[in-house]
Amino acid sequence: MSKFWSPFVKDLVPYVPGEQPKLAKLVKLNTNENPYGPSPKAIAAMQAELGDNLRLYPDPNSDRLKQAVADYYGVSTAQVFVGNGSDEVLAHAFHGLFQHGRSLLFPDVTYSFYPVYCGLYGIAYEALPLDEQFQIRVEDYARPNGGIIFPNPNAPTGCALGLAAIERLLKANPDTVVLVDEAYIDFGGETAISLVNQYPNLLVSQTLSKSRSLAGLRVGLAVGHPDLIEALERIKNSFNSYPLDRMAIAGAAAAFEDQAYFQQTCQAVIASREALVAAMSDLGFEVLPSAANFVFARHPQRDAAELAAALREHGVIVRHFKQQRIAQFLRITIGAPEQNQALLDALGQIL
Ligand code: PMP
Repeated sequence: MSKFWSPFVKDLVPYVPGEQPKLAKLVKLNTNENPYGPSPKAIAAMQAELGDNLRLYPDPNSDRLKQAVADYYGVSTAQVFVGNGSDEVLAHAFHGLFQHGRSLLFPDVTYSFYPVYCGLYGIAYEALPLDEQFQIRVEDYARPNGGIIFPNPNAPTGCALGLAAIERLLKANPDTVVLVDEAYIDFGGETAISLVNQYPNLLVSQTLSKSRSLAGLRVGLAVGHPDLIEALERIKNSFNSYPLDRMAIAGAAAAFEDQAYFQQTCQAVIASREALVAAMSDLGFEVLPSAANFVFARHPQRDAAELAAALREHGVIVRHFKQQRIAQFLRITIGAPEQNQALLDALGQIL
């Protein structure tokens, strides 16, 4: 703290991202990256930008990318917003759509960036407990609020809500924005983008970091009514008119256009997840039903923090959260088959 800080900075509690270890030989199953590379077509599109073109500013509207997203989902480009990772898209939504003096509602347990943004933008919130099966209790969200946000599938549990439940929640909340954070939707969930034409208060965010394997490129998006998108555009253009660089626009658009590669890699991750769930269950783990590219699991006889530390000794990094309700769980990213096998071998030795 110094006298040069703006007063509010001293009270900020920033988000702490998962570890990005420098040692390449570790089996890295802690931050839900995709084990398969980005689409070769996305890489070629980025390489084509990597040259003299970098003299020039990128398209501030990222039209090529918006068009690719609009085509993929059958919506108009006026219904699409893009940003520097979905974290930035979410930040703009908190800033521009949730500041109404009433509490924002989100689940307890959920993505830990939500309370951080509430702190940054001075938004009050209520975190509503999950039920005994770690599922979101939709009935609890029919109360006065300044907005609602939840990931679907939820993070870090991996549990998904069906579209019927999301519609119940939307019907109970016609007057505030409901933001469905679909960072992990492509691994088994049902996207709520099909509902945006019916519900003008629904905003759906997605990322290219997971199912499109571009975490390093930092691209996220949101789809919703043009009025919601207009608010996000105003915030964005008051903050950074060029959040996406030329490579990001070209690479992300090409990744959206390459549907065959996307389907094939998502299916491979899903198949690996099912194999991993079966093998971990055989080792005595209780694994929550996952529609994501990770599993959330606990072992009835073993302490999760100790297991995470022991796995690390064996060269495997997984995520452990200290928050009390989930402190006995490990969140494990679905890796390539040989990475998952390394995890299982290590667990076999530890247990
Ligand atoms: N939402 C959820 C639920 C997440 O887990 C993540 C990844 N940490 C994000 C959003 C942000 O993803 P990105 O900024 O890479 O698009």
